[in-house]
Amino acid sequence: MLVSTRPTFGGKLTANILCKTFPQMATVQENVFKAIKTDNRANAVFDWQDIGQIELRTEIIKTIKKEHTSRDVAKSEIVIAGGLGACKDNGFALIYQLAQKMGAAVGGSREAFEKSYIIKSQQIGQTGKTIAPKLYIAVGISGANQHLAGIKNCEKIIAINNDVNAPIFKYADIGIVGNLFEILPDLIEKYDTVKIEEKNE
Ligand SMILES: Cc1cc2nc3c(=O)[nH]c(=O)nc-3n(C[C@H](O)[C@H](O)[C@H](O)COP(=O)(O)OP(=O)(O)OC[C@H]3O[C@@H](n4cnc5c(N)ncnc54)[C@H](O)[C@@H]3O)c2cc1C
Repeated sequence: MLVSTRPTFGGKLTANILCKTFPQMATVQENVFKAIKTDNRANAVFDWQDIGQIELRTEIIKTIKKEHTSRDVAKSEIVIAGGLGACKDNGFALIYQLAQKMGAAVGGSREAFEKSYIIKSQQIGQTGKTIAPKLYIAVGISGANQHLAGIKNCEKIIAINNDVNAPIFKYADIGIVGNLFEILPDLIEKYDTVKIEEKNE
């Protein structure tokens, strides 16, 4: 029997879903299983040892790579990154909205990667990418050393965090202490106005 474990109640609980009838299928999140290199059969892509020796009558017809939805954090002049503080409600949706307005790339901390809000190539820091944009906006990121390792070469850093003692503020050129869920909608709404006023000056 296929047993799938999935988060439920907004990630507060995990539930085991029993699949008792056929056909049985499941999808898995990126990087949850380690890929193994063998032949071209579906049952060879991942290590299926947890479900035993089942003979799967499947073959891979086509592999469609997920479209990269963000600009490259290592090449963009503006990067907006989200941390654990943004990994709830619509935190990352707000970050993507602002990034679209500003023509920025979206990145994140390792926490954001582990919570699947970003893909590995968007992670910034010691085990992610090192970036050097003209402007880096850190949203809900505390500023751990491993994250700072990836942002040393940013020209200007703006940090948005509701904890006035967050280490990121020591490295930020501009620090905004407050709730990102109030600040980001404001920035998104006012960004066009600010740009127009700048042009008129
Ligand atoms: C070997 C090793 C390698 C690592 N490599 C990396 C790496 O490459 N990149 C990386 O980022 N980390 C890396 N880490 C992890 C690193 O140590 C930290 O755990 C991680 O950077 C913390 O991520 P964060 O700032 O998103 O989360 P947290 O440290 O939990 O910070 C979340 C922040 O969000 C703020 N916040 C919460 N709610 C709100 C709100 N509503 N509004 C505003 N602010 C809010 C909080 O005040 C807090 O400061 C590595 C660790 C190890 C041991």
